[in-house]
Amino acid sequence: MQAFTYEPQKSRVIFGSGTVAAIPEEAGRLGLKRLLVLSTPEQADQAETVAKSAGQLVAGIFSKAAMHTPTEVTENAMEVMKSLKADGILAIGGGSTIGLGKALSVRTGKHQIAIPTSYAGSEMTPILGETANGKKVTRRDPRILPASVIYDVDLTLSLPWPMTVTSAMNAMAHAVEALYAKDRNPVVEVLAERGIAAFGQALRTLKTTPDDLAARSDAFFGAWACGTCLGQVSMALHHKLCHVLGGSFNLPHAATHTVILPHAAAFNGSDGRLAAVNRALGGTQPGQALYDLARELDAPLALSALGFADADVPRATDIVMENPYWNPRSFDAEDITSILSRALHGDRPER
Ligand code: NAD
Repeated sequence: MQAFTYEPQKSRVIFGSGTVAAIPEEAGRLGLKRLLVLSTPEQADQAETVAKSAGQLVAGIFSKAAMHTPTEVTENAMEVMKSLKADGILAIGGGSTIGLGKALSVRTGKHQIAIPTSYAGSEMTPILGETANGKKVTRRDPRILPASVIYDVDLTLSLPWPMTVTSAMNAMAHAVEALYAKDRNPVVEVLAERGIAAFGQALRTLKTTPDDLAARSDAFFGAWACGTCLGQVSMALHHKLCHVLGGSFNLPHAATHTVILPHAAAFNGSDGRLAAVNRALGGTQPGQALYDLARELDAPLALSALGFADADVPRATDIVMENPYWNPRSFDAEDITSILSRALHGDRPER
């Protein structure tokens, strides 16, 4: 067995159905009395309903969370937080809303209770990506990690099918890259395989019965497991490619992860590093197993459908090569062009 360092993250997790009823207890445990509730405009109604579980603890609701955590939205929320004298944050939503909660928490030192409603996994990480002047900057800091996370599977029943699939593939990408991360450890390896397997089974059930609560629960378990992987170890080529495509070409976050993952896994899984993906999904080649799952679930397969064009490949390649992340397999510009070209056209990976 290879040497490793293991440092658990300190957050409390409550998982189940009807668990939003635990908000007052969690707030009490953290000493919070005036919560600012966060959501996107699209989930304002859902946030209002959930906030009823917090009763008198709600100081106000801010429903302007947006993708990639723009700093002007954070500044606006900071003013609202100050005027309401809020002493804590209750984020109800996907990665964008939890990202806003993180941005507020790290600036004010106030605790965040995160209530995830998608599978992106941000709630389990001390990572924050923020956008200012068109540039996204990501940092890791233990103070960013939400103090308390309440997974209530009931809230995922409203997750539309395209988001169900793409946010699940986004989470699986964390687990896939954790399996070959340079700082991986045995806990993360077990969680990664279990998380991918849970998603594989749950998504196939949800395709025909999207309101199957047991399958929704298994998928949410996958989100917790894969998000925990991302919180523990560093990521490689797949996340770098998605960072460039999202940050410099404005492609949608979860859908981009969905399209790139099979190709990054095919490239990095060439020497048996991703045998766990084969076991989890029942395939023989990790890239093909992920591609076939995405196709079976009617997920996007081609970057061309997301607004990326042939003419964008050279610039994207240059940006990736300017400041590459560590990767288990060395690569050059030709490799990146080849991965992007296959992903652009939605070709099935060769392995
Ligand atoms: P999102 O939070 O942007 O949500 C997309 C849309 O789906 C929004 O309109 C949202 O309101 C809606 N939605 C979410 N859950 C819903 C539900 N249950 N019912 C109905 N609508 C629902 O998308 P996401 O994929 O969850 O998160 C993407 C963002 O999270 C990106 O900005 C990404 O950078 C960030 N992220 C961060 C980390 C991290 O560790 N820092 C990890 C993963 C993703």
